[in-house]
Amino acid sequence: MWFPLETIVAWAKRKGFVYSWSDIYGGLANAWDYGPYGVQLKKNIQDLRWQTFVQERSDMIGMDAQILMHPKTWEASGHTENFDDPLIDDKNTGERFRADQIIEEKIEVDKLSLEDVKKYGAENLVPESRTFEQMHDFIVNEIPKNPSSKKLAEWTEVRKFEMMFYTYQGVVHDAENKIWLRPETAQGMFVNFRNVLDTTRMRVPFGIAQVGKAFRNEITPGNFLFRTREFEQMEIEYFVENDTEIGMQAFEEWKEESMRWRKDIIGFKAENLKFREHEKDELAFYSKGTFDVEYHYPRGWGELQGVAYRTDYDLTQHQNTSGQNMQYSDPQTGKRYIPHVIEPSFGLSRTVLAAMIDAYEEEKYTDQNGKEATRIVARFNKHIAPIKFAILPLIKKDEKQVEIAETLFKKLSKKYMCEYDDGGAIGKRYRRQDEIGTPFCITIDHQSCDDGTVTIRHRDSMEQERVKLEEVENFMG
Ligand code: ATP
Repeated sequence: MWFPLETIVAWAKRKGFVYSWSDIYGGLANAWDYGPYGVQLKKNIQDLRWQTFVQERSDMIGMDAQILMHPKTWEASGHTENFDDPLIDDKNTGERFRADQIIEEKIEVDKLSLEDVKKYGAENLVPESRTFEQMHDFIVNEIPKNPSSKKLAEWTEVRKFEMMFYTYQGVVHDAENKIWLRPETAQGMFVNFRNVLDTTRMRVPFGIAQVGKAFRNEITPGNFLFRTREFEQMEIEYFVENDTEIGMQAFEEWKEESMRWRKDIIGFKAENLKFREHEKDELAFYSKGTFDVEYHYPRGWGELQGVAYRTDYDLTQHQNTSGQNMQYSDPQTGKRYIPHVIEPSFGLSRTVLAAMIDAYEEEKYTDQNGKEATRIVARFNKHIAPIKFAILPLIKKDEKQVEIAETLFKKLSKKYMCEYDDGGAIGKRYRRQDEIGTPFCITIDHQSCDDGTVTIRHRDSMEQERVKLEEVENFMG
């Protein structure tokens, strides 16, 4: 069952997962803040990524670099030269679009063939390899109407758009003090490659993981958390011997591990996930392969994560730009080389979006009066659910019930996010918890005062069972 993105956005805002950015000042389209349940969902996803790929692996290590990195970093990575997108404006409405994106959408929606596209001089279906003129010709001829207003457009030329945000360091605002906000976290790990080697016992193959904010001045942010100008990434740089066979094997392993994590650990539905291999002409010249893990968003398949085999390009670039030696010396063989790198780049913000889409359901059921009713239930995997246990004293004026409930809250909340709710009819309290995806509701009633048992109610089946107070915790497994 598919729900439109608008339904997900409305629910996420209503329930405090996500708020409009700077809401009291009118907000800004396509910018968002995380509310209490959203931040917890994000933290759980982030923690599970860290647990799976850093804590549980002896070949991985974590670090945290600054958002404002040395300006030379972006020279070495090629961002100051290449990090720009082709954009086109509709003069009639003043709206701006990414030329490559509207072309891609047109090709997909109208199922245009290679022959149709070749008319405009492009060699293939990949927008990145077209010139600005070719893109302009295509848009003027094939997309005469503005994609959002659906009215006839008056297109400008296609122009380059710088995607990196910048600021100035210190009091003087001149070119020398210009400093960029990182558009990806990856470079923090490359520039610290030597530090990690020198200060730890890590030996190739090994990887570094990081999580943090990245900033891109996207021309067309949109689709809720899918494309925003400020977002979070959870990237990994995994270094292997400079041998393509070994590299390809590690690349395959990271592809599989990325998918396994999404299906088995954070519990996304298998039918909403697939790989998309990048075509040869989509690849940068140094890359030996790239796969995207794609998710089935309400508007169709789109990237959730990239896994790229980047050879020794990044470390070589930093060696050349900084003059520092980036070679690894194998202690066993004595061989010296610049390692190859596999980069699994998990988008945290997009994973939060996908988690909400994956979980949201409107379910029909028969209530206790035999009437047909509908409930909204967020079927988050219990490990990413923002709240694990709701603790519900049946009668809030019953001192004994309250005492048991408060003691239980104190105990469980040492390990898990719990919510204490004593307001309103019990059925309503269950519905509230269903909507935010709490897997277990624990009700304390008069019997609890007599025999130390409570009712545990399961979110998905709505079944209830009576268990001993001490056993409640076991449900988190
Ligand atoms: P896209 O083609 O969708 O712009 P990309 O290929 O530029 O994405 P990468 O540079 O590979 O993305 O970044 C790695 C991950 O970071 C992506 O898979 C995505 O999850 C996330 N990401 C990139 N840009 C954004 C953004 N503007 N908003 C939210 N997440 C983003």
